[in-house]
Amino acid sequence: MDQAKIVEELSKIVGKENVLASEMQKKLYGYDAYLHRADPDCIVLPSSTEDVSRVVAFANKNGIRVVARGAGTNLSGGSVPSQGGIVLTFSRMNNILEIDTENQRVIVEPGMVTLDMKNVLAGYGYIYQPDPASEKVSTLGGNFAENSGGPRCLKYGVTTNHVLGAEVVLSNGDVIQVGGKALDTPGYDLTGLLVGSEGTLGIVTKITLRIVPKEEAVKTMLAIYNTLEDGGHTVSDIIAEGILPATLEMMDNLTIKAIEGSFNLGLPLDAAAILLIELDGLKDGMERLAERIMEICRKNNVREVKAAKNEAERENLWAGRKGAFGAVGKLRPNYLVCDGTVPRTALTAVLTKIMEVGKKYNLSIANVFHAGDGNMHPLILFDERDADELKRVHEAGMEILKVCADHGGTISGEHGIGAAKMDAMPFVLSPVDIAAMKRVKTAFDPEGIYNPDKIFGN
Ligand SMILES: Cc1cc2nc3c(=O)[nH]c(=O)nc-3n(C[C@H](O)[C@H](O)[C@H](O)COP(=O)(O)OP(=O)(O)OC[C@H]3O[C@@H](n4cnc5c(N)ncnc54)[C@H](O)[C@@H]3O)c2cc1C
Repeated sequence: MDQAKIVEELSKIVGKENVLASEMQKKLYGYDAYLHRADPDCIVLPSSTEDVSRVVAFANKNGIRVVARGAGTNLSGGSVPSQGGIVLTFSRMNNILEIDTENQRVIVEPGMVTLDMKNVLAGYGYIYQPDPASEKVSTLGGNFAENSGGPRCLKYGVTTNHVLGAEVVLSNGDVIQVGGKALDTPGYDLTGLLVGSEGTLGIVTKITLRIVPKEEAVKTMLAIYNTLEDGGHTVSDIIAEGILPATLEMMDNLTIKAIEGSFNLGLPLDAAAILLIELDGLKDGMERLAERIMEICRKNNVREVKAAKNEAERENLWAGRKGAFGAVGKLRPNYLVCDGTVPRTALTAVLTKIMEVGKKYNLSIANVFHAGDGNMHPLILFDERDADELKRVHEAGMEILKVCADHGGTISGEHGIGAAKMDAMPFVLSPVDIAAMKRVKTAFDPEGIYNPDKIFGN
């Protein structure tokens, strides 16, 4: 079916005002925070599950591809319509449908921006734990599909640990409910299967999430180091002591310089690493725990360790971490985030290898990562207009993921596989593992209309 006919038919289904197809609009919905770009045939803005269901049924009947899109912030090429077709974008389905504080549940539409929901929940004294650094703009539909993480996931787990159920539109347009408000539901755990499926198995139109009362107290500390090794050992020692902070975030020298360049927080430009450590929970005993952490920092040759004295100081410390990607992004026109995960104990060895890879390919690499759970984020800086540099970036990225796999880690911590890391799947999965996953894809989407060329290709 040609593009004009697709637009005409979709306009009949959802209304002309909900279908976009100008050249400019197609460009705007044809990219994300990775490097690939491709124009869709058109963009549809559904207002309800029924809209989604009817659009998908039409697409299925006519062999048209469908790619769901939240805010387009994913870092793995996940929302790029590589084979054209329809981009379904959820900016009009962005409501909280129910806040059930008695049962500690919330039901939202997928286009709800993560932080917007958290701000509403704060008014009720509740918190949703996952905190991707992109939460100011990323959506809960995107978080669901990528199984997103964030600093607090060290203590509280990633998105899948907080999703209890979802309403899902299957690839033939049928609507199913998986899971619900209860902790367990009969039959297969389809909720677990769908979280992290990157829009390849189903399109989620409602999500049921677990919420908890907001913590009584928080204590945030900043530790400054002259070597990355000392920072890395501090992380291992804190956990080995049986202390589980809410966050343990590390940034290296290049990242510190980038943050200072953007935010002027007074961070020392010659430090090799800084650690951002946050405790949360009951007020009783927190000071003692914080003091013990500071002792561990001192034992590991910390240059300086200090605690935020008030909320303003805490926000200041976090501004740097939350804005780190953006700050690093100012250093060169592009960056590629590798997002490999390694056992905590391998952090220092892997960081050393990453630096060696940078030297080998003549590329600058900044490191900002969830140190507590070994989730590395080497940011390789480059200019995509330089074809040779771009080639080296791809090779270096693959080599870094291989290093993570070889150290007992894996190729993704929270950013998904998308189109970016398909070639790295064999580093951690056997052909039999991949074949089993492909059979799941075929069972859910026999015609292959949902988000093609992602995870392992079609
Ligand atoms: C500066 C920056 C910081 C980041 N920090 C973090 C971080 O700390 N932790 C982390 O995990 N990620 C992080 N990310 C990555 C990104 O923000 C997350 O992957 C996020 O969950 C994507 O949400 P989105 O709304 O932008 O989704 P999109 O990018 O639009 O889509 C992501 C995937 O979800 C699918 N999808 C979207 N909506 C639906 C739906 N309704 N049903 C089915 N599939 C759907 C898409 O098809 C695509 O495959 C960061 C990104 C940036 C740019």
